[in-house]
Amino acid sequence: MYWEKEIELLSRADLGKLQVERLKKTIEQAVRSPFYQELYRRKGISAESISRVEDIRELPFTTKQDLREHFPYGFLSLPKKETIRLHSSSGTTGNPTVIFHNRHDIDSWANLMARSLYCAGVRDTDVFQNICGYGLFTGGLGFQYGIERLGCLSIPAGAGNSLRQIKLMRDYGTTVAHAIPSYLGRLYEVFQEEGLHPKKDTQLHTLVIGAEPHTEEQRRRIEEMFGVKAYNSFGLSEMNGPGVAFECTEQAGLHIWEDAFLVEILDPETLEPVEEGETGELVMTTLDRQAMPLIRYRTRDLTRIIPGTCACGRTHARIDRIAGRSDDMFIIKGCNVFPMQVEGVLLKIPEVGSDYLITLENINGIDEMIVEVEVKKDWFNGDIARLDRLSRQITHQIRDEVLAKPIVRLVEPGTIPKGEGKAVRVVDKRKLEIVNS
Ligand code: AMP
Ligand code: ZN
Repeated sequence: MYWEKEIELLSRADLGKLQVERLKKTIEQAVRSPFYQELYRRKGISAESISRVEDIRELPFTTKQDLREHFPYGFLSLPKKETIRLHSSSGTTGNPTVIFHNRHDIDSWANLMARSLYCAGVRDTDVFQNICGYGLFTGGLGFQYGIERLGCLSIPAGAGNSLRQIKLMRDYGTTVAHAIPSYLGRLYEVFQEEGLHPKKDTQLHTLVIGAEPHTEEQRRRIEEMFGVKAYNSFGLSEMNGPGVAFECTEQAGLHIWEDAFLVEILDPETLEPVEEGETGELVMTTLDRQAMPLIRYRTRDLTRIIPGTCACGRTHARIDRIAGRSDDMFIIKGCNVFPMQVEGVLLKIPEVGSDYLITLENINGIDEMIVEVEVKKDWFNGDIARLDRLSRQITHQIRDEVLAKPIVRLVEPGTIPKGEGKAVRVVDKRKLEIVNS
């Protein structure tokens, strides 16, 4: 049932004790880095400042800006010689975010990944295809090490080239695959173009989906298309990458591994803890990292702790699927909008295909939200009135959800440009930049 029973079922009291112990160690380690050394010395903070988990609230936050300003080695807590790998974000503007790992860090990350996959029902008898970019992006190697630790036969397929992905699946009898959710709609279309169906022509039983925001509607669609169970995987490079929080087979929230991460949910404005079960910004502290500990890192991801215990028996808290990022909210016609609100509306409509794009643009002096929506091909058979009705229906439903009226454009499948990485959901031409890259 469990990968590491003694840790996964630890009582809350014992988990708290372990966290205090590890937090102290983390501070001792962190102050070896130029950044924390200077900051903590100035503020008089040391491991002795901590006697209970709550004492963490006295410590200052760490932000992406801090990471960028102290690029590349300002957060390194070990001699460079002891590190063995770095991962870094693409970072279209300014310095990238880089995270360093020593052997211990890679080992404990692999273990967290194996634990995560096991809790989603993956076993060493599975054939696991990792449809994900390898290299600096953490989804490739992060998963690879976990899959191997678990003992599955791994297929390090990499991203893209759908025909090849399908061939690999069929040649080797892939039973589990990991991909970003926005890619799977495209993959399914290619199955169809080839006259194949994943339910009949593959042995897939599980998909692991994550690395980008998606709605419950998106998950259900993926499960339906592929005839599988799809489990949500959450992580961020600053906290290693994947393996931070993962759904168990109950699909009732993502267990966030509290022996490795200390979790706070704070009001993004006041930075005070929210009420139990309320949504706020996820703030995280590494508890088991040596090369580059991070303390009170502001992820900008918005979520909540799901109250109560999980039927699987694991004691580690569960977070809800990410509602959005505090920095991907946009304002249009005076309304605050999260892309996931629009996705939630769109994917409830059966005629809507797998892709959409929101463009914010100033048209004749008025800011407009243009929503391009792919709909199934047979809708473009010349019946303009039918398309028109659908377009009006979508317009009304989006307006009811976000309060701003969009301009809806229905397009054929494959029209919206698709890269190999995470989907771009919003292009803000008012500022001439991509909002959620
Ligand atoms: P990166 O460090 O480039 O891999 O990006 C990490 C970010 O991707 C997180 O901070 C989230 O905003 C997003 N992300 C990762 N996994 C998920 C997920 N399962 N659901 C929603 N957003 C996710
Ligand atoms: Zn569970």
